[in-house]
Amino acid sequence: MSSEILHCVLLSKTVDLRKHLASEIAKLDGRINFIDHLTGNEHDVTLAVAWYPPADAFDHYPNLKAVCSIAAGADSIVMNPSLRDGIDVVRVVEPAQAEMMSGFVIWHVLWHHRQFATYLANQREHLWKRLPARTAQEVPVGILGYGAIGARVAADIAKLGYPVKVWSRSEKPTPPGITGFHGAGGLAAMLGQSEVLINLLPLTSETRGLLNADTFGKMPRGGYLIQVGRGEHLVEADLLAALDSGHLSGASLDVFVGEPLKPEHAFWSHPKIMLTPHDACDVSRPAVGQTIWATAQSVQAGERPKDAVDRGRGY
Ligand code: NDP
Repeated sequence: MSSEILHCVLLSKTVDLRKHLASEIAKLDGRINFIDHLTGNEHDVTLAVAWYPPADAFDHYPNLKAVCSIAAGADSIVMNPSLRDGIDVVRVVEPAQAEMMSGFVIWHVLWHHRQFATYLANQREHLWKRLPARTAQEVPVGILGYGAIGARVAADIAKLGYPVKVWSRSEKPTPPGITGFHGAGGLAAMLGQSEVLINLLPLTSETRGLLNADTFGKMPRGGYLIQVGRGEHLVEADLLAALDSGHLSGASLDVFVGEPLKPEHAFWSHPKIMLTPHDACDVSRPAVGQTIWATAQSVQAGERPKDAVDRGRGY
């Protein structure tokens, strides 16, 4: 890498990135000059770190070459209207993140399978009541998305004995215990065999609104949704209707169309919903720092950064 210092702008409407990444900014001091949005030197900026950037953010940086997300998803950058063609968008890929996500999702699979919501309600009533038990083999689990995180989640759930189905865009080889489905044609078949449906898709124009009445209708009656992708995957009114009609028995939701979820939102007090505030997993700050540094080196070498998303596909 050239010894010339690289200028990187911090762009976010929702997160104070200087505070969020303080430890990593300190480590990169002397190698990268981090500047705040619209504080001068716009022509020197070749790199950005972004998370939900302002709509016109990229218009101000004519020499920008790459943008790093601070998480696994890069949708808030890829969909930004001011992002010009030819600018690479890089996401953070970290095995520890997939591991953390897996633990979170497994807890919710067990919550549904072992009927813990009913035990909790019975405890509140001081009611000693044994419930009929099923083995893991009797509870098929479907996973939308078989990427860096989906593959880890699928492997861990299969190890517990659940029959696992996975759905991806392209055809993927799968090990014993995991059945693969792909493309629009594979979705209906997969949904029909998924009592528990876990969403681990990236948000793109193709996946927006995919969790809708039609999707829920194809799942077996009594099915359960674990929504850890992005809020915009879900048509919220369709979920409420599926829960209220009894077609779905419950849902665990970590991501929402509007975050933070408004206090008056129906999800908060719905008896069949368990929700968490977009906390299924977090990326370690050092992993973000390493991604920023690796991307800076690629920018200076004139190479395509590792973990750059395919902007045509949107993820
Ligand atoms: P990857 O890009 O590694 O994997 C994405 C998967 O989705 C791939 O298997 C891909 O198929 C599949 N996919 C994409 N589009 C389609 C489509 N149109 N039809 C069918 N399958 C499709 O992403 P990650 O596993 O790293 O992350 C997945 C998502 O998880 C993130 O984008 C984010 O939305 C969410 N997430 C949520 C977090 C939280 O805290 N709640 C934390 C981290 C991530 P193919 O294999 O063919 O390319």
